Amino acid sequence: MRKVPEMFGSMVFNETAMKERFPKHVYKALKRTMTEGTALDPQIADVVANAMKDWAIEKGATHFTHWFQPMTGITAEKHDSFLSPSTDGTVIMEFSGKELIKGEPDASSFPSGGLRATFEARGYTAWDPTSYAFIKDHTLCIPTAFCSYTGQVLDKKTPLLRSMDAISKEACRVLKLFGKDCKRVTTTVGPEQEYFLINKSDYAKRPDLVITGRTLFGAKAPKGQEMEDHYFGSIRPRVKAFMEDLDEALWELGIYSKTEHNEVAPCQHEMAPIFTTTNIATDHNQLTMEIMKKVADKHGFVCLLHEKPFEGINGSGKHNNWSISTDSGENLLEPGKSPSENVQFLLFLTAVIKAVDEYQDLMRISVASAGNDHRLGANEAPPAIMSMFVGEELEAILDSIVSGTDYTDVSRTMMSIGATVLPAIPKDTTDRNRTSPFAFTGNKFEFRMLGSALNIACPNIMLNTAVAEALSQFADELEKADDFNAALGTLIQREIKAHKRIIFNGNGYGDEWPIEAEKRGLLNLKSTPDALPHYTAQKNLDLFAKHGVYTEEEMKSRQEILLEEYAKTIQIEALTSLDMLGKLIIPAAVNYSGKVADSVNAKAKLGIECPMEVALVRELAEKTSLLMKKRNALEESLNSIPEDAENAAKYYHEVVIPAMDDARRLADALEGKIAKEDYPLPTYGDLLFYV
Ligand code: ADP
Ligand code: MG
Repeated sequence: MRKVPEMFGSMVFNETAMKERFPKHVYKALKRTMTEGTALDPQIADVVANAMKDWAIEKGATHFTHWFQPMTGITAEKHDSFLSPSTDGTVIMEFSGKELIKGEPDASSFPSGGLRATFEARGYTAWDPTSYAFIKDHTLCIPTAFCSYTGQVLDKKTPLLRSMDAISKEACRVLKLFGKDCKRVTTTVGPEQEYFLINKSDYAKRPDLVITGRTLFGAKAPKGQEMEDHYFGSIRPRVKAFMEDLDEALWELGIYSKTEHNEVAPCQHEMAPIFTTTNIATDHNQLTMEIMKKVADKHGFVCLLHEKPFEGINGSGKHNNWSISTDSGENLLEPGKSPSENVQFLLFLTAVIKAVDEYQDLMRISVASAGNDHRLGANEAPPAIMSMFVGEELEAILDSIVSGTDYTDVSRTMMSIGATVLPAIPKDTTDRNRTSPFAFTGNKFEFRMLGSALNIACPNIMLNTAVAEALSQFADELEKADDFNAALGTLIQREIKAHKRIIFNGNGYGDEWPIEAEKRGLLNLKSTPDALPHYTAQKNLDLFAKHGVYTEEEMKSRQEILLEEYAKTIQIEALTSLDMLGKLIIPAAVNYSGKVADSVNAKAKLGIECPMEVALVRELAEKTSLLMKKRNALEESLNSIPEDAENAAKYYHEVVIPAMDDARRLADALEGKIAKEDYPLPTYGDLLFYV
């Protein structure tokens, strides 16, 4: 294995490569574009493109692509070669500034929610110079944003960048009031990624896994995760080899893969990277998911990123660790050491509390998908109710602020906000609360509702924008105040009082919580179709318009896309179920019962009574005919899908999913009665407990 420092970022056109290859003035101009968002001079772009191309060719690249994130949630690329014919019949390798800055993929087949009229099917991609170019599969990949010619956003990166600008602007205003001259505030993210690895040979025999990413049938294996022997357990050699290869591939691309371990369920694992700027973390997470799949393939595995590949054992999530820091590296969610630093910390904390409470619906929507519906509230992931965990000590401090009483602690003295006596805020010493959807973990928040397959742009767009709004309101108020300290005290007390209901340190998996949450007036949007209609609530349209993140039209189109995506996902699952029932499962039961019946006849000829076999044939015949009825009912249910997207999504949730579940129950019961050699699908035991 090569040395890590040598390998790290070797396939990335990063600072080192830029410094090495650009003339000084070009490097400076590009840096200015990267840090201040200024436009790039076309002449400079030519120099940049040429140097990038030379670097890429030296590394073995032959093609380039604008790498972007359309609203499908995955990444898209269209490869062009550097090849350019020369007059003497040979070729030269060329790459211009124009090609670097702007691309024109034929974008008519990406979902747009009606934003791109069909006569104007083209969109264009524009380079995001704040995310480095990299080489993947002999192709120079240029991270880009994707827009329509009329300027509407068609991707996930553009709104993310806009939301980062919004929070930066408002946070800088607030910091100015604390006497800090800060030009740029960035949000940082470290996404922990869970996944399953199963054998490719088993996968290939399961149409449900191949088509939908999850098993639609399968009786529980005799063993699941009840022995709790997989979490942090020793990693089997084949998986270890996969992880080593994965780390290498990620490191080459400058992705800070840091921790690899086994997760709770059999065959489930996790990779945690070191955090970085949100848009880079997003690009990196998209790449990570892609590379996990590729590396798995080389090792005879398939990497499953679906949120719920197997019933009865945990599904996979993604923890979005999020914080805000200044250009001088100050983490704004780090409790400070001095009283004044702590007031600033409390103000930012208050902004997050207010944001999450006021935009609970958006936070919930940002993680809504058909796959994630299986996890939220199912005692393996946080419930579908948004709440925040801040730890007991911090809650006691917030309580004392609300009641205006002094906060006293055995070892600490009193505090009062805005005045001078604020003690050092203690690091939380309580146990980590694993059941909270949004937990403060010392100097960052961990948003735990995300599903494993999600593009993390969505939750971070919501979070950044909602916090930007809270900070904006705070800045408006405090900028006007004559007595800053007094105004600060009043504001923090008022806002904590108003939004304290969102703070919950108890057990989020408990049966009492939904009841308590309802009393507090918190939203409980159980499924994706329940959540999505809230997307275009007036307050949400206003929020994104005010901060220049989405227009009303863009929001409506996104809502439409999300609803359709949900409906299509369930439709594909239903059709796959029908197919498997009709072509595999029911025929297997019929064949097997036929075999047993033959054996009954053969034995009868010999005068042997076989009541067990007779009963089995009868049972199989009865169950199979009932299963056929359920299959037909499922098919029937697909004939009356409502026209409009919202009602269609609801219908799939309320009618089609139960019909699918109904058939599955019976099919799974049959599975246990059919001989192994006569059952065409690898079972849960085969899939999860391979050697
Ligand atoms: P723990 O072990 O308590 O979960 P870690 O320090 O291992 O915490 O962090 C978990 C994840 O949070 C990692 O991906 C890490 O990079 C990320 N993280 C740490 N600090 C920050 C921060 N300031 N902003 C965003 N993510 C962070
Ligand atoms: Mg975690």
